[in-house]
Amino acid sequence: MAVTQRKRPQSDKLDVKPATSAQTGKTWGRARDVGSFTITCSAIIMATCPLMVVYFWMACTSFQCSLAAPFEKLTSRGFSLVALEHGLEDLVKDNFPTPTKEGFQLYFAWLLFQAALYAFLPGKIGYGQMTPAGYTLPYVVNGLLAWVVTHALFIGASLGLGLFPASIIHDHWGGLLIAANVYGYFLTIFSYLKAYIAPSHKEDRKFSGSIVYDMFMGIEFNPRLGKYFDFKLFHNGRPGIVAWTLINFSFAVAQWQRIGYVTNSMVLLNFLHWVYVIDFFINEDWYLRTIDIAHDHFGFYLSWGDSVWLPFMYTLQSHFLVRNPVDMSWPWFTFVSVLGLSGYYIFRAVNHQKDIVRRTDGHCKIWGRPAKVIRTEFITSDGKTHKSLLLCSGFWGLSRHFNYVGDLLISLAMCLTCGSGYLLPYFYIIYMTILLMQRVHRDHERCKGKYGKFWEEYCRVVPYAVIPYVF
Ligand code: NDP
Repeated sequence: MAVTQRKRPQSDKLDVKPATSAQTGKTWGRARDVGSFTITCSAIIMATCPLMVVYFWMACTSFQCSLAAPFEKLTSRGFSLVALEHGLEDLVKDNFPTPTKEGFQLYFAWLLFQAALYAFLPGKIGYGQMTPAGYTLPYVVNGLLAWVVTHALFIGASLGLGLFPASIIHDHWGGLLIAANVYGYFLTIFSYLKAYIAPSHKEDRKFSGSIVYDMFMGIEFNPRLGKYFDFKLFHNGRPGIVAWTLINFSFAVAQWQRIGYVTNSMVLLNFLHWVYVIDFFINEDWYLRTIDIAHDHFGFYLSWGDSVWLPFMYTLQSHFLVRNPVDMSWPWFTFVSVLGLSGYYIFRAVNHQKDIVRRTDGHCKIWGRPAKVIRTEFITSDGKTHKSLLLCSGFWGLSRHFNYVGDLLISLAMCLTCGSGYLLPYFYIIYMTILLMQRVHRDHERCKGKYGKFWEEYCRVVPYAVIPYVF
């Protein structure tokens, strides 16, 4: 879909009633009914994920990034209930992150600054996919400028003017973790209440009948403040993805302060993250039509996930390299660089093919030949038929999610910068594999509901989900 200059769209609302699949007659979009197993899992995830982030923080900060060490300390007095209670006391007393004034000040100043950039920097208007209730929403696409301004100011003010140490994020990592958690939970509850009291697009809300599940996966599809301040795009892009490279940079400076130089592994890790993040912002308009924006509702999964999980768990490798510097041999450095850049090439090329075929309505060449497409239909509630298409040549003829192969390769390369002695830095590739495999399933259900027999035809023509001839 084209990006146009910022202007007030004539109407962003195409239809207000729930859209239905031409074939099934069911509403597409997130499932409405959930069973007790799903609800229990949602409750467990909301309760345990914050503890997991704290555990990883503790492992890195106090135990040289050994994942086993905090557990060994916990159980050092034995496994009886009393022994575990004492073990937990020891662990909490010496190693838990504590709330600090600086942590809260930094976090909320950062959040407000990003919100101001998001709201006031100039940007083009991009459009998302039509929602199940028939809205095609406008988004201000100014992420690249926000990223450049943020990094230029941070580097200029710290290294240039010496107003604060560039390691400031690393130095307040524990206090920031607490502040981010407070905000993540606040945002979850705020979004839940907003869905009832002041929804942005009430026909796009999904109520599952379970407070826990609604809190976890969200009720509102595209909660907004005013016309343009979109919760999903803002929280994923700004406190989430802009922070990613800034955190890594701060950790690289912390490594330099500790050992007097920056290792080639840290340089490569920063480089790969920069490539991934800058690509995200250059193609921010494309992101509007990915599953995050086109399918997920806004609950704990995204609000806490973007506030805490993304900045703290996606940067574990740089935290690791501060505590355990790795000097890569040059052959290994070359191999990991080539692996990462190949992954990036695949990731970008696959996503580009989908974008170009949709933008040209299939009138383009893919790998030098006219694109092969399945022309699809889906119906909105006023009985109107909308047309779309599914590409089934090029990368999209190899498998239905070949972009995930590229993402997994670059993720693996990021982990490989940390050597082979520890499990912790490999958390990212393990997590990405689980996340993307689960997405395959979720996307399949969504597209089956939306496109019905056209999707079945696509699955027949392209039978593999991710890796050709394997899966
Ligand atoms: P996709 O970009 O593959 O989007 C899937 C959607 O594209 C489908 O729902 C459908 O939507 C449309 N589609 C499916 N098949 C076709 C086809 N053959 N031709 C045209 N359109 C099709 O998936 P994601 O949104 O999950 O991922 C986007 C990128 O982001 C990926 O490269 C992924 O690796 C990456 N990613 C990174 C994460 C991270 O944390 N680092 C997390 C998740 C993703 P419709 O028809 O409704 O438009």
